[in-house]
Amino acid sequence: MTTERKAETLGFETEAKQLLHLMIHSLYSNKEIFLRELISNASDAADKLRFESLSNDALLEQDAELSVRIDFDKDSKTVTISDNGIGMSREEVITNLGTIAKSGTAQFLESLTGDQRKDSTLIGQFGVGFYSAFIVAETVEVRTRRAGDPGDSATLWRSNGESEYSIEEISKADRGTSVTLFLKEDELEFAESFRLKSIVKRYADHLSLPVMMLKENYGSSEGDDEDELQSPEYEIVNDAKALWAKTRSEVNEDEYKEFYKLICHDFEDPLQWSHNKVEGKLEYTSLLYIPGRAPFDLWNREAARGLKLYVQRVFIMDEAEQFLPLYLRFIKGVVDSNDISLNVSREILQKDPAVDSMRSALTKRCLDMLSKLRKKDPEKYQSFWDQFGQVLKEGPGEDFGNREKVAGLLQFSTTQSEGSSQDQSLGEYISRMSSEQDKIYYLVADSLNAAKTSPHLEIFKKKGIEVILMYDRIDEWLISHLREFGGKPLQDIARGELDLGGLEDVKEKKLQEESEKALEGLTERIKTVLGDRVGEVRVTHRLTDSAACLAMGEGDMGAQMRKIMEASGQSLPESSPHFELNPQHRLIEKLNDEQDEERFEDLVEIIFCQASLAEGGQLKDPGAFSARLNKVLMQIQ
Ligand code: ADP
Repeated sequence: MTTERKAETLGFETEAKQLLHLMIHSLYSNKEIFLRELISNASDAADKLRFESLSNDALLEQDAELSVRIDFDKDSKTVTISDNGIGMSREEVITNLGTIAKSGTAQFLESLTGDQRKDSTLIGQFGVGFYSAFIVAETVEVRTRRAGDPGDSATLWRSNGESEYSIEEISKADRGTSVTLFLKEDELEFAESFRLKSIVKRYADHLSLPVMMLKENYGSSEGDDEDELQSPEYEIVNDAKALWAKTRSEVNEDEYKEFYKLICHDFEDPLQWSHNKVEGKLEYTSLLYIPGRAPFDLWNREAARGLKLYVQRVFIMDEAEQFLPLYLRFIKGVVDSNDISLNVSREILQKDPAVDSMRSALTKRCLDMLSKLRKKDPEKYQSFWDQFGQVLKEGPGEDFGNREKVAGLLQFSTTQSEGSSQDQSLGEYISRMSSEQDKIYYLVADSLNAAKTSPHLEIFKKKGIEVILMYDRIDEWLISHLREFGGKPLQDIARGELDLGGLEDVKEKKLQEESEKALEGLTERIKTVLGDRVGEVRVTHRLTDSAACLAMGEGDMGAQMRKIMEASGQSLPESSPHFELNPQHRLIEKLNDEQDEERFEDLVEIIFCQASLAEGGQLKDPGAFSARLNKVLMQIQ
């Protein structure tokens, strides 16, 4: 029995209020998930208690059988989910249930569109947990006592999910938490045994924690007369065996999917999973999932990541980051080891050689899962790629040992994949190379459009050579760690002098050498005009349509990398690109014939500025450029 004292009313933090409101409306079509969320919290609470009790068995208070119980009462229109897990202190209740203050909440709210259909998938990514109770409940009461605290210092939290909640001190004989939902008038189906059982079966069958409900004949609204009250008999209504401990053949697809949602607090199906039992020197089981969608805080460095760690079925910790490298931080799941000590800490995990071996095996496992997915279902892989590709691109720089493997999973747009939504792998690129081609050609630009229209592509288009188009912020950094793939060097086509190796034809080469000689005087004249703003001025054969272009030196920092460095506050020396001329172009011929020095200078400046613009660069002095251009335009008769 509980006696209630000293109620205090507190306001929800503003963001919590907004989220609550949004969630109640967005998740309306999938109301029953509230039960999954509450059972999942109860299971986490049981896991935490089991773990804390390893070092302090007094916490179990003669009640070592952990379970969650669901009671319902049609007359009072309630459903109650009770656990005998870790419970919460008053302070914990206030921080855990009075705020949804995950870092990034404000940005998340800003990203909402106001379109309910779109926002409802976003709210899923955000994860709403406990608050989902308000989808079906008018009022929610939480009674909780932290394991080990005295019986009279429990807490009652009550709210109607609007703007306030009240909190008071109560007595509670059993440790743990009990959440009572006062159902809305049109949600009374959730006070029906049959309905509740089927939801439990669907969402929590494979939770290792038993879920108990009253036995059918002991309907909760019967036996009002106290004398006739039979002592209620409960039965376990779920399978209550850890899903990962089963063999693969015992688990079907839906069960894998539901288990993912349960343990990862996700609202959407996972894209793929891999379930493995390893026996031998190390013994462990892993169940790894690729989520269907990136979480809202994927780019937040402090965001939760890592696997749930169990040791011989005992939950040890959430977010065990040591089992996977950072570039696989999107992978979720469980690892259950027989070799790690039960009282392990995060610090010890970092130094444990068993963890190192598991990490490299699990990393391979993830890479294999991705590689299989790519082969088996390119479309699904593309959807993975759209969500997490940028994270995977961190791989070659981070994981030297698996560089080639990760590189094989990367996808890019190429000059050949235009118009298709399917990106291409480096392997596919190589398989299309002609026998004369000995390099993988690529181009880095600010956007796909800038890449596609780059003058550097002209000769490649003419000769039908495929070029990889890179335009992600991380690409240049990626490529600095990936000098070759499949034994073929990667060559930036905007860097150094054009060298097509075996693809060049001898006759063309001879013509080119002649035109270079013929323009020797011109390149010197131009260099005098542009001075230090350019490195060399030279004749090129990479252009077919444009008059000129800029090319980086072999060792120069690319524009993308430069922008990133500058944005992080580093000052970099000015770079001077080489200025390359197309000897076939009419404008260059005209320039060569130009006798008037002032006009010559104007034309050189204009062509030079155009070449910078074509690289996606910005003009130092756009005003001067326009003035010169107008001057030349005015001279047209
Ligand atoms: P999440 O479970 O994703 O952290 P919730 O909103 O569901 O988010 O819960 C917030 C926090 O409240 C939990 O992290 C946990 O600390 C606490 N909590 C919720 N339910 C329980 C429970 N049954 N027993 C103990 N603590 C709980």
